[in-house]
Order: sequence, then structure tokens, then C-alpha cells
Amino acid sequence: MKLKIENLVKKYDGNLVLNNLNLETEDINTLVIIGPSGGGKSTLIRILAGLENPNSGKVKIDDEKIRYNEKYLCSYRKTIGLVFQAFNLFPHLTALENITLPLIQVHKLNPVVAKERAVSFLTRFGLKEHMNKKPGQLSGGQQQRVAITRAITLETRFIILDEPTSALDPALTAEVLDIISELRKEGKKIILVTHSMSFAKSVADRIIFVAEGKVIEEGGPEIIDNPKTDMLKTFLNKTLKY
Ligand code: ADP
Ligand code: MG
Repeated sequence: MKLKIENLVKKYDGNLVLNNLNLETEDINTLVIIGPSGGGKSTLIRILAGLENPNSGKVKIDDEKIRYNEKYLCSYRKTIGLVFQAFNLFPHLTALENITLPLIQVHKLNPVVAKERAVSFLTRFGLKEHMNKKPGQLSGGQQQRVAITRAITLETRFIILDEPTSALDPALTAEVLDIISELRKEGKKIILVTHSMSFAKSVADRIIFVAEGKVIEEGGPEIIDNPKTDMLKTFLNKTLKY
């Protein structure tokens, strides 16, 4: 996945949230976004996912320009798997149905094939015995594993995860991070926002530090141990390096 972002601007109610953000990457598998709360990370990935329109600027993914009109975005969104902080599962559906419903309704898969695919992924991530439970009957870690399973079952060209472990305690965090590492080893394309610096270091091909609506610093995983800018240094000193 090759990203090129030029002069991206996003305002909410006159407030500049993305302030001429620029980014150009080589062909990478894993982009990790770090930065202080309120710096614009979620806004950036919502724009990358086609859920939000920028005020101005250009986004290109693998040399394809994202066109911010509904017709284009409608099909573009289907090419992306999304995982949010708060799981976003349908509460009235079982784990299995949460995964099969979008496959059948949105991606028009045959229901039998959808179920086979879902069960095989659920089994792989240790969720088979839980597949007929509703989200309320699952732990946070299990719910998030279902959400990730849903995102990868869609076989999208990449997966975007926005702080997928921030609502989880450490043991459940490890469960979820293991799955993400496994997906990375398989060569899945991943864009991930995380607060875990050690995890960022272990999975990133490229790390960008986003603050005040800009990419303040970027580089390989080594920038966690050797930050150059004062802003990243200050951020890392304040952040637990777990
Ligand atoms: P981060 O994910 O880095 O914490 P966000 O992208 O969520 O940052 O938010 C950046 C800024 O934009 C914050 O000040 C936030 O309050 C503001 N913001 C985000 N989404 C909206 C929205 N839908 N309406 C108004 N302000 C928003
Ligand atoms: Mg956020």
C-alpha cells in the first residue's frame, strides 16, 4: 500500500483539525499512527476510510485518487475493513451474524459461503465456542476479536484500526495485539492508531507522529527510541512505554 497525502485540510466548526497534512510513503504493509489525544489521528483515518470529506487536499492510495463524492465513496468503503475503539458490533446479533451479515448484505456473498468463511476465521481466533453469543455475553477482548474477524473476513484491500485496544485491560489487549501481529505476518495491509509504543515498534513498517493536525515526524520503528523533534520527545516522555 502506497499512500500520498497532499495538503489535507479538515475543519470542524471553523476549527482547523488537519492543518495542511502531508505524507508520502513507499509501498508498505503497516502504517502506524501515534500522537497526542486531539491531534487529528481519528480524523485522518476517517478521511482515509472515506467516512469523512476533507475541506481540501488530495489523498492517493496506490496511485488511485480518492474522490470524495458519495457515488465513489460508496464502493470505495467496501474495500476497507474498519475496527474502532468501541467494537461497533450489532448488539442484537450473534458474533457469527455480526460477521456474516455484511458479507451477505453488502458484499453479496452466498449465505452458505459466508457462514463457512466466518466460522473458519472465528475458529482460527479461538472464538468458535462463542459464535452464537451476542456481544453483551462476550468479554471486551472477545468482542474486539469478533470486530477484527469481521474486518478481515471481508477480504478488503486494507484494514484500518483506530486504537483497537484502548478500551481493554492488559490481558485482553495482548489477545487483540496477537491477532494484529498475526495478520501482519500474513502480509495484510494495516493502518493502525495505537497508544502502545512497544507494539507500534514491533509491527510498523512506517510510523507517523501526528499532532496539531500535521505529520510532525515520521520514520521507521526506530523513531520510538530515537525521536528527532522536541514534540515527539515530549510525547514519548509522557507516554507509558508499554
Ligand atoms: P485524535 O484521534 O488524535 O484524538 P481526533 O481526530 O479525534 O483526534 O480529533 C481532533 C480534533 O477534532 C479534536 O479537537 C476534536 O474535538 C475535533 N473533532 C473531531 N471530530 C469532530 C466532529 N465530528 N465535530 C467537531 N469536532 C471534531
Ligand atoms: Mg482518536
